[in-house]
Amino acid sequence: MPTCPQCQYSISPTAVTCPNCGLELKAHGHPGIDLHRSQGNTYLCDSCSYHQDDSCTFPQRPLANTCTLYQNVQTVQQRPMTAAEIYTIPWWRKYSGWLALAAVLLVSIVLVMI
Ligand code: SF4
Ligand SMILES: [Zn+2]
Repeated sequence: MPTCPQCQYSISPTAVTCPNCGLELKAHGHPGIDLHRSQGNTYLCDSCSYHQDDSCTFPQRPLANTCTLYQNVQTVQQRPMTAAEIYTIPWWRKYSGWLALAAVLLVSIVLVMI
């Protein structure tokens, strides 16, 4: 269960405000809009991908302490999976043409011998 970043009180994942200290946890009072909050004396923009690629137009940039669009640059920069990692072709499917040819040859040999 998540905890309040200010008072460490256990809160529901959909809580809009902390029931203990009243800290705003979701933006615009909507449980579906996360409100990211900086830790200590840091700014969210320092580790945000929209700041790094210079695509953010929010007025609070580069000194945002709270933000709804914050996206951690480290989670975005993870290496994309290669096609081989996403889908591995089974061996029988790789050689299905040769297997079909071998089956036809085998059936032909059996028919000749009968
Ligand atoms: S999206 Fe928010 S945290 Fe990211 S750069 Fe813009 S203001 Fe800063
Ligand atoms: Zn709290």
